[in-house]
Amino acid sequence: MSLENKYNLKSPGVKRLMREARELAEPTEEYFAHPLEDNLFEWHFTVRGPPSTEFEGGFYHGRILLPSQYPMQPPNIILLTPNGRFEVNKKICLSISGHHPESWQPSWSIRTALLALIAFMPTPAAGTIGSLDYTPEERQILAKKSINWECQICGKIAETLSSQSKSSNITQEEASLIQQIALKAEEDANRKEKSADKKEDSDETNVRQRVTINTPSAETINEPITDVIMETEVSINPSTVDQVFNVVVWVIVFVIVLLIGRRFFLLE
Ligand SMILES: [Zn+2]
Repeated sequence: MSLENKYNLKSPGVKRLMREARELAEPTEEYFAHPLEDNLFEWHFTVRGPPSTEFEGGFYHGRILLPSQYPMQPPNIILLTPNGRFEVNKKICLSISGHHPESWQPSWSIRTALLALIAFMPTPAAGTIGSLDYTPEERQILAKKSINWECQICGKIAETLSSQSKSSNITQEEASLIQQIALKAEEDANRKEKSADKKEDSDETNVRQRVTINTPSAETINEPITDVIMETEVSINPSTVDQVFNVVVWVIVFVIVLLIGRRFFLLE
């Protein structure tokens, strides 16, 4: 049965994925992605290792799992080719993938996720979920090996990408998005260094309190701390909102007191 007959074409997620499949049908030099023959919500992709990095010359293959609420929720990316940067067979943590749903925008796409993945590969692992800290030499060896890597479904992955240098026409929005993602990784790395130095400004204290509340024995483990940093990022906004709310309440109380006072004064 073809995909067209299998799915409800009125569903926004299905429509959207059909459109993305048409737009991505031609392999580019940097990436290629296609839905599985029998499942529109699972795609396989190949990306080329970014040039001038330890991934240069490598081909990396993986799965993209689309939630039923896509594009309202982000895709999950799972790498299958050993690469030394991300664990294989594990959902990886890009700031736009499933582990960080609060930063995903429905206007982003599978293409955006792949461009972000390519941009993200050379950034420091910094202990984020699913990240590996291999040396450049180990990564270069894996890049060479990846040329012969085969997917059980797609075959030899090095042959799935176009060899012609075609510009992939990155829009300005995509370029700034990709930059944001790289920056986010650096920020996270800096934060981790700070907390290792036990430098406790108010944010860090917050983080530490949460660590003790959520995971009593987590001081020495990397993963919970990363998770917790995400939580603080989320919780900064509500506390700012609270402060603004408090100020507004006090202004209202002040005005009421002023009005009452004025009335008494006028009555006398
Ligand atoms: Zn495949």
